[in-house]
Amino acid sequence: MRCFYHSDVEAVGVCKNCHRGLCRACAVEITNGLACRDRCEKEVVALDRIIRRGRAASGPAAVLFTGVGAIFVIFGLLTLPSGLLVLVVGGFMLAFGALQLLSGRSKSSSPGASA
Ligand SMILES: [Zn+2]
Ligand SMILES: [Zn+2]
Repeated sequence: MRCFYHSDVEAVGVCKNCHRGLCRACAVEITNGLACRDRCEKEVVALDRIIRRGRAASGPAAVLFTGVGAIFVIFGLLTLPSGLLVLVVGGFMLAFGALQLLSGRSKSSSPGASA
């Protein structure tokens, strides 16, 4: 692949914002990827900030859901049959929290896994 801006130069990477090939002179390294110098720098920084904020927000909430859900399930089992509702609610919370944790983990481990 060649640089989008210099058709005679081999690209060293791809811009995270516009996905064009970039040579060493055109690429700017931003935390988790490359951006076109003076063109996509701001966009890639903003994109990174959004991704990081999303990860930070879903992490603790998922842990909380899983933990509270587990407590509800145990409490519901101990107080059966009257605790059936607590058990069902706890089960849903546990499943929701576990799903969030799993999706967050697979998303954060994928970038840079090949490098
Ligand atoms: Zn770009
Ligand atoms: Zn270039």
